[in-house]
Amino acid sequence: MDSSLRLADYVEAERDRIVQTLFDYLRIPSISSQPEHAPDVRRSADFTAGLLRDAGLENVTLLETDGAPAVYGDWLHAGADAPTAVVYGHHDVQPVDPLDLWTSPPFEPVIVDGECRARGAVDDKGQVLYEIEAVRGLLGRDGVLPCNVKFLIEGEEEVGSPHFEPLLERERDRLACDVVVVSDTGMWSIDVPSVCTGMRGLVAFDIHIRTGRIDLHSGSFGGAVPNPAHLAARLVAALHDGEGRVTVPGFYDDVRPLLPAEKESFERLPFDADKWREMAGVGALVGEVGYTTLERTWSRPTCDVVGITVGYGGAGIKTIVPAEANVKVSFRLVADQSPARVAAAFEAWARAALPAWAEVSIHSEGPGVAPALTPADHPAVGALRTAIGRVFGTAPLLTREGGSGPEEALGRVLDAPVLYLGVGLPDDRFHAPNERMIMDMFWKGLLSAGELWAELAAALHPGAR
Ligand SMILES: [Zn+2]
Repeated sequence: MDSSLRLADYVEAERDRIVQTLFDYLRIPSISSQPEHAPDVRRSADFTAGLLRDAGLENVTLLETDGAPAVYGDWLHAGADAPTAVVYGHHDVQPVDPLDLWTSPPFEPVIVDGECRARGAVDDKGQVLYEIEAVRGLLGRDGVLPCNVKFLIEGEEEVGSPHFEPLLERERDRLACDVVVVSDTGMWSIDVPSVCTGMRGLVAFDIHIRTGRIDLHSGSFGGAVPNPAHLAARLVAALHDGEGRVTVPGFYDDVRPLLPAEKESFERLPFDADKWREMAGVGALVGEVGYTTLERTWSRPTCDVVGITVGYGGAGIKTIVPAEANVKVSFRLVADQSPARVAAAFEAWARAALPAWAEVSIHSEGPGVAPALTPADHPAVGALRTAIGRVFGTAPLLTREGGSGPEEALGRVLDAPVLYLGVGLPDDRFHAPNERMIMDMFWKGLLSAGELWAELAAALHPGAR
């Protein structure tokens, strides 16, 4: 280990205690989706609060919601000129079934071949713990932190954060910050460190097409009455052009192009398209012409038909002309697309594509999720890359993620750039049996978190913002 790293000595001295703390944390079965575990989720909130207190954080408290509690704690003595950061993670975990596939019980953590196996090891207790330990180490060493730091550790991430946005709104003042650090993501691989800068958003629709009152006899009526299956198929076929582009007018207008540094990073990542295709279990990779698979899944907006329901699907044949059809469509969005604008454009397009006499209803499934992006050239991203690069010995490449979580709400409600410091690996078995944290990655996460605050203090000047 590079002894010039701020927390190198701390890790050497505290290694055993930290591992025991991690084990104690992981022994709590804080499964948020199962009501019988609600007391355990509360116990893990209390445990998290204890970790924060032991680390020297102040104002530690549970933030109650209509569901499971989040945990808050802060250290605000870096001065008004220093930036303020919110550190986000979650203390709840996924269910554990199928139990018989675990090589050791999910809530009895063990270290095997350098990896800690337990539910929550990487998602997300391990990643929460190294953030807290980094603060504890720095406060113990220096008595101060270069930044003001506020921890916000959620208890409902694994059930879709149903009460998180109202919590952010309610606690907006307490959580005021210049930057958010999310520790709930991953890196490309053990020897290719990377930094995620954004996640795609989502907007989805249910389209109902009715052409008649009832199904009709195809012998008596077929050929002289409209068929909603034909209309649905035509609508779906018209969604993309021959080059895989979405045809909804204006769909790409707000798409922010990749920065050259991102494009270069994507190209340098050791991505094996054929292996990825096999992993996906598909016969071919198809998509928007002119873009790589990583670009298609990370930085391009897309449209997928989720389902088409119409007519008869049972055994044999039924001689009907159906009366109604249903199409479900979902769009993945990228910065700076807005779910509301895409929704309006799609609805107008779909209505124009269907005959005026058809009875059509289109409704959005929820308000949608906006895409999240912290521009790769933002000074805070530079600070994070410097911190990680120092620990890993090589500059991290830039990535993005295809899905979305509470990160978008954090950035939007707190009006701050979001950084992703995560050391999970794609094969860490997130949400699956034998979830693991490679301990070497855990220590690197801790050391990176230890470097980050000084880098952020140097990169961000709140007064000049
Ligand atoms: Zn997670």
